[in-house]
Amino acid sequence: MRLVLLGPPGAGKGTQAARLVEKYGIPQLSTGDMLRSAVAAETPIGLQAKAIMESGALVPDDVVIGIIDQRIDAADCLNGFILDGFPRTVAQAEALRALLARKGQKLDAVVELIVDENVLVDRMRQRVAETLAAGQHVRADDNSESFRARLETYRAQTAPVSDHYRQKGELKCVDGMAKIDMVTAAINQQIAG
Ligand code: ADP
Repeated sequence: MRLVLLGPPGAGKGTQAARLVEKYGIPQLSTGDMLRSAVAAETPIGLQAKAIMESGALVPDDVVIGIIDQRIDAADCLNGFILDGFPRTVAQAEALRALLARKGQKLDAVVELIVDENVLVDRMRQRVAETLAAGQHVRADDNSESFRARLETYRAQTAPVSDHYRQKGELKCVDGMAKIDMVTAAINQQIAG
């Protein structure tokens, strides 16, 4: 099962991806998580990405495309993967198609979580409060200013990715405002259909 999860920041992609990992026994590939690890480890990519991520802008396409191209060659991706946070530009979507074709693979489903924009900021604030209450580290880009910039980046650069897949007849949409279990059920239904 090779799956792409689309949706704005705060849509619940990470939560749903974790459930799909359980159900299908395939890994969640989050470019955001991978980039945060690179930032923490101060690798050359991390050093390049740190300020970009904090500003809410996108890391260059070639960087994330390179990361994904390599990652899906790993043994744990043999039966598939869930892409979370990639592709985030139309150029990334096109590169993904090409690199999968080169590996003799293709996507099985592209699912978008549809969420009203005005609930996203509240969700981010809630996530920060819960993270702090749990004594965990809050993401450097989970503050109102960066979050608004991430939403703006989403509108300008990532919303067209949905149109890209819609035009190819490959996009499946799920109501991301429903209860978490309902969203999971709807995603599974879309994947199966
Ligand atoms: P969210 O979905 O909550 O916005 P992510 O964890 O997916 O956050 O991504 C955090 C940041 O990492 C993004 O704002 C961006 O700077 C960078 N990033 C993640 N994935 C990509 C990507 N595919 N292309 C470019 N930049 C990315």
